[in-house]
Order: sequence, then structure tokens, then C-alpha cells
Amino acid sequence: MNPITGLSPLDGAVLDSIPEPVIVVDRRRDVVAANTAAGQEFGVSYRGRALALSLRHPLALAAVDKVLAGGVAENIEVNFPAPTARAFSLVVAPLRSEAAPGVSPAGAVLVFHDVTAERRAEQVRSDFVANASHELRSPLSALVGFIETIKGPARDDPEAQSRFLDIMAVEAQRMTRLVEDLLSLSGIEAHEHVLPQGRVDISQVVGHVAESLRRQAEERSMTVRVEAAPGLPQVNGDPDQLDQVFRNLVENAVAYGRPGTEVTVTIRPIDRVALVARPGVAVAVQDRGDGIAKEHLPRLTERFYRIDKARSRKLGGTGLGLAIVKHIVNRHRGRLTIESELGKGSVFTVALPAA
Ligand code: ADP
Repeated sequence: MNPITGLSPLDGAVLDSIPEPVIVVDRRRDVVAANTAAGQEFGVSYRGRALALSLRHPLALAAVDKVLAGGVAENIEVNFPAPTARAFSLVVAPLRSEAAPGVSPAGAVLVFHDVTAERRAEQVRSDFVANASHELRSPLSALVGFIETIKGPARDDPEAQSRFLDIMAVEAQRMTRLVEDLLSLSGIEAHEHVLPQGRVDISQVVGHVAESLRRQAEERSMTVRVEAAPGLPQVNGDPDQLDQVFRNLVENAVAYGRPGTEVTVTIRPIDRVALVARPGVAVAVQDRGDGIAKEHLPRLTERFYRIDKARSRKLGGTGLGLAIVKHIVNRHRGRLTIESELGKGSVFTVALPAA
């Protein structure tokens, strides 16, 4: 039994069955009862101990004092920055004796509700909107600037006008790509929980991607070679989305590989895809480029995360490619792994369960 409930076994059991921290204090602000969750979360360790010794949060303590002084229930949000950031919605309710209604409360009940995940999701959402707006704003201001120049100082200079129009076309294309990637990402996210139904021959998809990126590779004197093991099983998948996955990976390998090198795509059967513990197919896209420092690897699939912003922009990147890859692979119950060595290059491997 919980040593600090200080209640009858049944009342104690009821309190302990509540998964969120609950603490009861008397009018001196000493702990009268607390459930297991409160013990685990705040280290409320024994009956009679001053609340302030466990709950070191000035706002929360002030709310308790206010309620004990005869106030009505208080609802506040308390944030703990360390050791891991947590946020709780806290309700402090006065405890009045039925025998003596109206007099100042005999104590107070604190009920905590963990809102960390909600707050984090809100933060991610608002960062995302801020990032997306920022990304759209720079090409947009370039366009506005050039339009004014063409209407004003460059009004009678057809040569300058034509040069500006070329730059404007590039900026407009950047915005188009960004909007397409954003729409694609939100479409994928909306259906991420729905397993794809089609059956896909992965080597066919990869072969098609490699073929369609050949010109792009040739511009950098690069080649894309596909090596497929014989007898590969088919996978359950959405062919268009899988095309998008390997297009993004091969495009990156071509963009970040050194000129004159080869991008190698190997496709082989594997015994086990983690998560689903089923056999499957692994596709590894290997480039010979500068590689990626270790500290960046876990963040690469975050939206708009780029190691070198200016370089990515120059290459026409949106910073969303790998986020799209990750979400599509998740939807397919597959797994994306990234290995890289500085100065040598990177290998992006997608494992997909067999149909
Ligand atoms: P981008 O549109 O910038 O390529 P991605 O989401 O596809 O966006 O990739 C995010 C970042 O990851 C890139 O900006 C780049 O810094 C890094 N990156 C991706 N692929 C490679 C690669 N093959 N080699 C080195 N860095 C890479």
C-alpha cells in the first residue's frame, strides 16, 4: 500500500488508481495524502511533510496559498524546465468540511494533468508555420523587388528586364516547389495511418527513377547505377509515393555527391524489417560526397532542417525532401537509416516489408 495516502485502504486504492498526480494538503500546506503518481512525479515522500519541500514551484505554491486563504478553485499551468521539460495543468480546489461550510477551507486538493505532449505539438505546429512563411517570404520579396525595378529604373532597359525575368522565373519555381512539397507532406501525413494496398515491384520503381534523373546526373558528370539482386519479393506499397521516396534520395545523392562520381543504388532482400519483424527489401542509395557530421544525422528528417541553408537553396532544395521520405516510409511500416562518413559520402537505406 502507498505509505503516504494516510487514508483508508479503499480510499487510498481509489486515489492510487488515478494515473495523474493528486496531492491533498491541510491548511498549514502540509501533505495529508498523495497518490503513487504524485510520489513518482514530484517525490512527495511522506505524510506531514511540507508541500514546498517536494513541489518546488512558486506559482503552484502561491495558487495553493490563495485557495487556502479562502479563495475559490484555481487553475494554472506549471512548467518544469529540468531534468526534462514538462508542462502540467494544475487545478487546486478548496477542501471544505460539510459540517462547517463557509469557513475557510480545511485544506486543498491538487490535481495535475500532464499537457507536455500537447504543448510540444503546438510548438512544432507554430514553428512549422513560421518556417514555411519565412521560406515563402524570401522568394516573394525578391519577386516584388524585381517587379518594382522593371516598372521603375529598368523601364527602358530591355536587356536588364530580360535578366530580371530569368531570376524571377527561378524564384517563382522555388515557390512552386515549396508549395508542392508542403501539400505533398500534408497529404501524406493525413493518410499516414492507412496501410497502402498496392503491390509494387521495387526494382521497377527505382529503375524508373534512376532513368528519369540521368540527365540531371550527367549535368554534374555523374552516373546513377542500379544493382538489383535476383528474386526480390514485391512490397505492399503506393507506387507514386515510393517513386517520391527514391526520387528524393537519388536527387540528394546527385546534388550532394562530388562531380564525376557514381551514385549506387543497391536493392537486396532482407530477412527482417524492424518494427514489423517480417522479411522485406532494402534499398540503399550511396553517394560519394562530403558526408554528414554525426550531430546532424538525427535531425535530417525534420522539416526545413538543412546543414547548409545557402547550399541547399542554391541546389533548389526545399528542406522538406527527407521529411517527406520519412513520412512515406512510416506509412509503409518501413524504416529509414542514414549512415555517413565525413569526406567519403552517405548511404540512405530504406527497408520495406514484403507483401
Ligand atoms: P533539401 O531540399 O535541402 O535537399 P532534404 O530534406 O532533402 O532537403 O535534406 C535535408 C538536408 O540534409 C539537406 O539540406 C542536406 O544538408 C542534407 N542532406 C540530404 N541528403 C544528403 C546527402 N546525400 N549528402 C549530404 N547531405 C545531405
